[in-house]
Amino acid sequence: MTTLKAVRGTRDLLPPETALWNRIEATARAVFARYNFGEIRTPIFEDTGLFARSVGEETDIVSKEMYTWEDRARAQSEKPQSLTLRPENTAGVVRAYIEHKLGETGQLQKLYYIGPQFRRERPQKGRYRQFSQIGAEVIGPPSAGSESPLRDAEVLEMLATLLDELGITGWTLEINSVGSSADRARYNEVLRAALIPVAAQMCGDCQRRAVTNPLRVLDCKVAEDQAIIDALPKIADSLDGESKDHFAAVTAALDKAEVPYTRNYRLVRGLDYYTRTTFEFTHGGLGAQNALLGGGRYDGLSEAIGGPKAPGIGFAMGEDRLVLTLLAQESAVPQVLADAYIAPLCDEKKPDVLVLVSATALFLARELRRQGLRVELGDGSFRLKKSFEAGNRTARHIVILGEDELESGILTVKDFASGIQTKVPRAELAAFLSQPSGEPAGDSTS
Ligand code: AMP
Repeated sequence: MTTLKAVRGTRDLLPPETALWNRIEATARAVFARYNFGEIRTPIFEDTGLFARSVGEETDIVSKEMYTWEDRARAQSEKPQSLTLRPENTAGVVRAYIEHKLGETGQLQKLYYIGPQFRRERPQKGRYRQFSQIGAEVIGPPSAGSESPLRDAEVLEMLATLLDELGITGWTLEINSVGSSADRARYNEVLRAALIPVAAQMCGDCQRRAVTNPLRVLDCKVAEDQAIIDALPKIADSLDGESKDHFAAVTAALDKAEVPYTRNYRLVRGLDYYTRTTFEFTHGGLGAQNALLGGGRYDGLSEAIGGPKAPGIGFAMGEDRLVLTLLAQESAVPQVLADAYIAPLCDEKKPDVLVLVSATALFLARELRRQGLRVELGDGSFRLKKSFEAGNRTARHIVILGEDELESGILTVKDFASGIQTKVPRAELAAFLSQPSGEPAGDSTS
């Protein structure tokens, strides 16, 4: 029988690396809390129409990367519903904003999420078919200030803070403005006209995009097309006065907050719903898939999926890529050692005592764990040497619990780092094990 493996593009995350994932998530939650964001959890799958109407039919995500299936109809008369594993989370958050009438609170909604997304992309380092995003959205009625450039600058400043606090060094922030939907429509026509004489010299994808969605040409990564694309008209020249002023206010606030950025005129991003500010944080250490996160403003998204006017701005960070970057920086995730390995030891020929020693070891472990210590419980069938080997691999100390210790209530503890063995009364054990390793304490017997 062939052995089953994780599906292509999906991965198992194992310890000790999962400790790094947890640290990243804890840091993100702590930073979001300081900026007064609350958590939102939306379903993993949604009606397919949600993504078609928000992300855009012509985008790579919707046209070829979604995991879509037809749900069984409940009744014969019913049409089966088309469902899709979420390829991104902004659409789901905005759907929830509309469904729960969050706009009627009159307040700005500041929501963050952490969770898996699914895209049928070609897997490679940093690109998976199931990946995790940490993202946030700031959305609300215009009366709550949701269109303000200060919101954009605050989100970007928060991201710079988050990356710094995660310990990611050497990131780059690129920003651009894609203007209002009217600006974009105007620019699309300017681009369409500019592409007519050159499209035939470009890759197949660009030839198609030149007709269906000219803006997407700017995303092309084919080397031969780059000189042609660089010579195309820039979106900055198609922005109206309001969009220009909005962008100028964003950059002025970033300058004041000392958040470094560069302007990238080609940054239009792969999703159709963006308006005005778009941005990406990249990292040189990631190779071809160098985007740590991306985001932007989406002033028309709520209306595009049937909701009220609710301008917003948000981002999604690739958690897998944060992990890759930190692993490359730190080279290895340190193994977390337990504070103690409890070794119940007993003569094999005394099965009754063995049961008692083992039971007491479990009780001792329970006591120590309740006091917050990280404890590994050994096994009464192990000999002394095997217990020491197992203890040395997993913990800072070994606590020996044999017949003598059972009677006297005084335990033998060895600190692996210093090699010092100490007799410790049971009542003092937790305090003793909590001390940093290598420091001799108590009445040392060796
Ligand atoms: P997007 O939702 O396409 O704007 O992507 C936002 C971020 O999610 C990117 O900058 C990446 O860090 C991450 N990301 C997107 N697609 C993938 C993928 N297939 N595998 C891993 N990370 C991804």
